[in-house]
Amino acid sequence: MAEVTGARLIVRSLQEQGISTIFDLPGDPVSAIVNTAGDAGMQRITFRHEQAVAMAAQAYGYVTRSVGVGVVASGPAMTNAVTGLATAWANTWPMLLIGGASEMGRRGLGDFQETPQVAAAAPFCKWSVAVEDVRRIPWFVATAVRRAMSGRPGPVYLDLPADIISGTVDESEVVRAPVMAPIPRPGADPTLIEQAVQAIEAAERPLLIIGKGAAWSDAGAEASALVDALQVPFVPSPMGKGVVPDDHPLAFAGARSYALANADLVILAGARFNWLFHFGEAPRFAPGVKVIQIDIDPEEIGNNVPATVGLVGDAQVVFKQITEAASRPRRRLESPWVQALEAERQKNADAIAPMVNSDAPFTNLYRMYRELNEVADRNAYVVADGESTMALSRVMQSNFEPRHRLDAGVSGCMGTGVPYAIGTQVGAPGKQVISVNGDYAFGWNGIEIDTAVRHKLPIVFVVANNGTVRSAGAFTSGPFTPDDAVRYDKMMDAFGGHSEHVTAVDELRPALERALGSGRTALVNVAIDPQGGRKRQQFSWLDRLGRMRYTGE
Ligand code: ADP
Repeated sequence: MAEVTGARLIVRSLQEQGISTIFDLPGDPVSAIVNTAGDAGMQRITFRHEQAVAMAAQAYGYVTRSVGVGVVASGPAMTNAVTGLATAWANTWPMLLIGGASEMGRRGLGDFQETPQVAAAAPFCKWSVAVEDVRRIPWFVATAVRRAMSGRPGPVYLDLPADIISGTVDESEVVRAPVMAPIPRPGADPTLIEQAVQAIEAAERPLLIIGKGAAWSDAGAEASALVDALQVPFVPSPMGKGVVPDDHPLAFAGARSYALANADLVILAGARFNWLFHFGEAPRFAPGVKVIQIDIDPEEIGNNVPATVGLVGDAQVVFKQITEAASRPRRRLESPWVQALEAERQKNADAIAPMVNSDAPFTNLYRMYRELNEVADRNAYVVADGESTMALSRVMQSNFEPRHRLDAGVSGCMGTGVPYAIGTQVGAPGKQVISVNGDYAFGWNGIEIDTAVRHKLPIVFVVANNGTVRSAGAFTSGPFTPDDAVRYDKMMDAFGGHSEHVTAVDELRPALERALGSGRTALVNVAIDPQGGRKRQQFSWLDRLGRMRYTGE
């Protein structure tokens, strides 16, 4: 039989697992893999920095409900990608990172770029391992894909030494591996479902919290059915937005603080009581609040807050089980609870209305988001990055479909906005992808707009340019004016995409329309008034810690 190389076996194994796209940055020793992938007809998206490779791969995986694959070279190339593994780990998103490595046969001798890569990836990965036998490459790839996708998803890492990539074996010696079966969707214990339903029906002020585990589970229809049948108000996590459309009458993101603090029972579905939900603690939640917790991962049940009922299973299936078991759901639409939530939502909308509707020439963030909402398609993907930019995006940008919003999430990692948008657009060709970035956040991976242009991805990047870089460095004193806005649009000119520079509010809408209509990668640089208004936190300790501003409260 014919000889086959390690590089060829990697590509063939990926294709056997249904993978047709890789995100890469070629270099020694992985050039053989990416070139073989291109020759074999795989789509290649080639980046400028490995952090962006890993981030784009995980966004693609999340959006397409598959494993996004990143391929990076050895040593610093691989360590550059580690922050991307960390964001995938924090967000529980599946991805496979393949890192080239120094030669296995020269370990310990000080080989070119010899680095403890498996150890560097391990804390963030469900599986981090070196491939040490060319014959078993199909098994390593199949196992990596299955581990990334099953249970709580997450990143996996395969270390590929140079002599494994270039090594050859006879085809007859290759150990075959099965194609990944569809991801199992376990249901919860029916006895516990009964208990959960009784508790929900007994509650006066129940609240469903929809997290991105439910988005990952594709539980949109089942979540909507539950909300409608049980008439339970809901609040999404940032990336749980859109599982049930933001304009559903029982959507109370606009009364989030009130809803969390006053619920007597919370159904926590595919979300964690981490910092985004203030660890489930009082005063953010009512003391003694009952918790029905739905999670695919049994170890998450009871984390930080004891679960009254823990339902281990896939959100889609468990939502259905609850809805079916609730024989005579209570009517709550006219209840004092829903009315109080509506009043609070209105109060909050009134509080921001002056900013949203401001015609002041120097645009504020709220007004910018209003304009964006008005030009965006209903099924647009929204990617947000930054501090106030991301926080207000969570408040202001609506989502109507699951997995249509991507932001830094639990990781709080700046710089995700550009690569997440690239991975999203690759995974959703033909759909609008709008990536809004604070001027500071844009800096980390802003160079990747070149990647978007080269691959003809019609993403619209917005830089909400309020001079944060300038003020953070204390380079100048005095107020920031539109004339001070750094010209990020000129970066886009250099790379050959469509650019817009907006210094006055009435220029904004036409600029966005031109950008969206251009059909090209576009960058809209919007000078934003840093004094343009911001709602204060209800809980002063959140302001003090500085962290919770990311939640968009
Ligand atoms: P969010 O950022 O939306 O609050 P988190 O990342 O904190 O969400 O939590 C997501 C949770 O969803 C994790 O605990 C994860 O185990 C869980 N999860 C992942 N997939 C599923 C699924 N198919 N069904 C239910 N829960 C899931």
